[in-house]
Amino acid sequence: MSTSRPAAVHVGSCSSSSGSDSDVSATMDSTPVIVSVETIRCMRCAASIEVTSTDDPSIYGMVRISTNLYYCDRCAKKTGFK
Ligand SMILES: [Zn+2]
Repeated sequence: MSTSRPAAVHVGSCSSSSGSDSDVSATMDSTPVIVSVETIRCMRCAASIEVTSTDDPSIYGMVRISTNLYYCDRCAKKTGFK
């Protein structure tokens, strides 16, 4: 019908070298996740829990005071850390 447009259909978008961005996002897939279990002990009442390295100790109620120093939830409340 009236769709006969002149030549401007083949507008080549200049030199698009396709196929170079496929290997960027696929590098982190096969990285092995090393999960280590460590025991966190409350420095006040010596209550201990075992957490894995992928866990946040706070989900167990442990409050981190400093490096490798934790209070349990109860002691944290008593000492004002929580
Ligand atoms: Zn405690």
